[in-house]
Amino acid sequence: SSSLSKPDPRRKPPSTGTRVSVLVPLPFPGPLDYLAPIPLEPGDLVTVPLGRRETVGCVWETDRTLPADFALPVGREVPLARLRPVIGKLDVRPLPQSLRRFIDWVAAYTLTPPGLVLAMATRIHLKDAPKPALGWVRTEMPEGDLRITPARRSVLNFASSTPMTTAELGSRSGASAAVIRGLASAGLLREAVIAVAAPFATPDPSHGAPKLSEEQAEVAQELCGPVEAGRFQVTLLEGVTGSGKTEVYFEAVAACLAKGKQVLVLLPEIALSAQWTDRFIRRFGAEPAVWHSDLGAKRRRETWRAVAEGSARVVVGARSALFLPFADLGLVVVDEEHESAFKQEEGVMYHGRDMAVVRARLADAPAILVSATPSLETLANVESGRYRHELLTARHGGATLPDVSLVDMRADPPERGLFLSPKLCTAIDETLEKGEQAMLFLNRRGYAPLTLCRACGHRMQCPNCSAWLVEHRARGILTCHHCGHTERIPKDCPECHAENSLVPIGPGIERITEEAKLRFPDAKLLVMSSDTLGSPAATAEAVRKISDGEVNLIIGTQIVAKGWHFPKLTLVGVVDADLGLGGGDLRAAERTVQLLHQVAGRAGRAEHRGRVLLQSYVGEHPVMTALVSNDFQTFMEQEAEQRRSSFWPPYGRLAALIVSAPSAEAADALAREIALSAPEREGVQVLGPAPAPLAVLRGRHRRRLLLRTMRGIAVQPILRQWLGDIKPTGGAKVDIDIDPISF
Ligand code: ADP
Ligand code: ZN
Repeated sequence: SSSLSKPDPRRKPPSTGTRVSVLVPLPFPGPLDYLAPIPLEPGDLVTVPLGRRETVGCVWETDRTLPADFALPVGREVPLARLRPVIGKLDVRPLPQSLRRFIDWVAAYTLTPPGLVLAMATRIHLKDAPKPALGWVRTEMPEGDLRITPARRSVLNFASSTPMTTAELGSRSGASAAVIRGLASAGLLREAVIAVAAPFATPDPSHGAPKLSEEQAEVAQELCGPVEAGRFQVTLLEGVTGSGKTEVYFEAVAACLAKGKQVLVLLPEIALSAQWTDRFIRRFGAEPAVWHSDLGAKRRRETWRAVAEGSARVVVGARSALFLPFADLGLVVVDEEHESAFKQEEGVMYHGRDMAVVRARLADAPAILVSATPSLETLANVESGRYRHELLTARHGGATLPDVSLVDMRADPPERGLFLSPKLCTAIDETLEKGEQAMLFLNRRGYAPLTLCRACGHRMQCPNCSAWLVEHRARGILTCHHCGHTERIPKDCPECHAENSLVPIGPGIERITEEAKLRFPDAKLLVMSSDTLGSPAATAEAVRKISDGEVNLIIGTQIVAKGWHFPKLTLVGVVDADLGLGGGDLRAAERTVQLLHQVAGRAGRAEHRGRVLLQSYVGEHPVMTALVSNDFQTFMEQEAEQRRSSFWPPYGRLAALIVSAPSAEAADALAREIALSAPEREGVQVLGPAPAPLAVLRGRHRRRLLLRTMRGIAVQPILRQWLGDIKPTGGAKVDIDIDPISF
C-alpha cells in the first residue's frame, strides 16, 4: 500500500516540495531528480514516473566525500518547478546506508551504471512490492440492536483480536464472505495487518558447542576478537582439509550472534549448502536463512524482509547475498575463498570474495576468508600485512592426510579405448573389498568432449561458438556447453556422408561410468554431476546415500570436490589430472592445484587413512610435485615469483576489454580503433588485441585487450578516459572485466 495517494502523472505537479535524487534500476550514469511532496529519507523505496512508465527506485544521496573521479553525476539540474513528483512510497524498510554505499562502491569499481547494481539488490521489489496481508478483528463496538443470524453469531464467536483472513474466518465459522463483509459494514469487524511471524528461528550460540583442540581454540579466539570489538579486519583462516575450519569459524559466528548482530556466510556453490546447513543446525539448533537465485518468489520476499528487519540472523548464500539489506551486519565469512565460482562473469562482473571484504569494511565488520589452498591474491594480502593469517595444521581427531601418488600413464597405460589404468583399477578393487568407498573424479560432463569422423577427420563443432560439441550419449545428443546449442547425434558424417563413421574422442564422466560398470559389475554406483543432480534436494539425497554407505563407487565432476565430509571414503582416483593445465591461461596451474587438492581432501577424513591416485602424462609438472609432496608453499612461492616479475595480478592490476560484434570484421575494426587510442604512460601496458579465449560465442566474434598497470595505479580512471570517446556501432560493444580471473 502506498502512503501517498496516487496522483495522475499528467496532473500539474504540486508547487511545493523538496528535491530528492532517486536511483532507478536502469543504466543511467547516476540518480535522477524528483520532487518529494512528503518528507523522504535516503534509502526509501519509491515509485516514480519515468517517461511514460513508472518504476521503483531508491532515494539516494550523492556522497560528496567520494573522490571527484568517483562522484556520481547528479540528474540534470531541472528547475524545481519542472520536476516530476514521486508517486508513492513502498511499505518496506529503507535500504540501509551500508548497502547504499556498497552499491556505489561496486558500481564505481566495476565501471557499471549504479542503477544496474541497484537492480541486483532490489530485484524482488521491482516486480512485486510485498503487500501487507490484512485480516479481520472484532471491534469494541457492542452488538446493539443488530440482527444476529446464526451465521453472524458463528463469525463473532470465532473473531478475536488476532486478525484472520476472510478465508480463515470463513472456514472456521462456516459463514460466507458476504456475512463477514456485512459485519464489517455494521462496524463489528475491522481490517488489521496480520503480523508476519519471523520465518527464521534465532540460532543459539551455545547450543552444540564442540570441545575444541588447543590449536583450534587459539585460532577461534583470534577470530572472535575483531567480532567482539566490532572492527573491520580481514583474516585468512587456512588449514588442511578436515582440520576443523568450519567448526572454528562457527565460534566467530557464535560470538557475533551473542552480540546480537547478523552474519553473512558466502559459499561458492549453493549445492554445498545441504550438508553445511545440517552442520549449522547441529551447532546452533536453528536453520540459517539460505539465499540463492533459485529461491521461490515467496521465500525470497520473506528472506529479504527478515534480513532487513534483523530477524534472519545468519544468512548463508551465493555471492548475490552480498546485496541483501542487512540491518546490522557483524561478520562476513567467505568459505573456499579461492574458488573461481565467486566471480560473476556476466552482467555486473564482480568478484564475490573481493566485494565481501568491501561489504565488511563498509559495515565496520570483520571478514574471514577460509581455504585449504588460499588464492595467490589473498596470500599476497597476508604478505603485505593487510590481512591477518591464522593456520590450522592438524586434521581433527588425529586423521592423517591422504597419501597422494602418481600413476604415470606412459608407463602404466589403460587398455586401448579405456581410461582407467590397471593400477587404479586394482586400488578400487582393494577398497571395495574392504567395504570402503572409492571415488573417481573427472571434471568433464557428458560422454566425450569431441566427436570426429574416422573417414574424413571432420570435427563436430558448435555453429555459434568456437567450441566442440560435447556428446551426451544417454540423451542421444551433441551439445555446446557455452551456448546450449543442441542437436541429435547424426548417424553418418555430415561432411563426407560416410556411414557410422563418427567416433567419440576422450572421456567424459558418462563414458567413465560405462567403463566402471563393466570393470566393477558388483559396485553400487552413484554419478554426481550437474546433469544427474538437478536440484539442491537431489544433491542432498546423493550426499545422504554416500554418508549412509548405500553406494560404494562415486563418479563425479567438480561437484564432488566441494567441502563434503564422507567418513567412509578412502580412495580418490583422478582420471585426468592434466585436464585444466592446457590452454594459455596463466592461472591454470594455481587452479588445478586448488581443485585437485580439494578433491584429494575428500579421502580418509575419518579413522582410515585415505589414498589418492593421480593419472597423469606429465608427472614432472610442478602441479603434480606439489600435490604428491603436499607442499603448496613452495608451489605458490614459484607462482608468485613468475607473476611478480612481470606485474601480473596480484602484483599488478589487470582489466580485460572484451570487444564483440556480429562479424569478425566489425570486431577487428572496433578492437583496432580501441588499440589506436591506448593510453601511453609509465607503469601502464596494453596487451592485444588478440582473439578472446572463446573467439566466437553465441554467434558473436570476440577480441580481447588487456590493460595491465603497476599496483599503485588504478585502472578505472584510465579506462573511463580511454573508452569515453569510443562509440561502438552496428551491434558491436565493449565489456569491461576488472580483475578477470583468467589471463
Ligand atoms: P574443514 O572445514 O577444515 O575441512 P571441518 O570443520 O569440516 O574441517 O571438520 C572436519 C570434521 O571434523 C567434521 O566432521 C567436524 O565436525 C569434525 N571436527 C572438527 N573439529 C572438531 C571438534 N573440535 N570437535 C568435534 N568434531 C570436530
Ligand atoms: Zn555454442
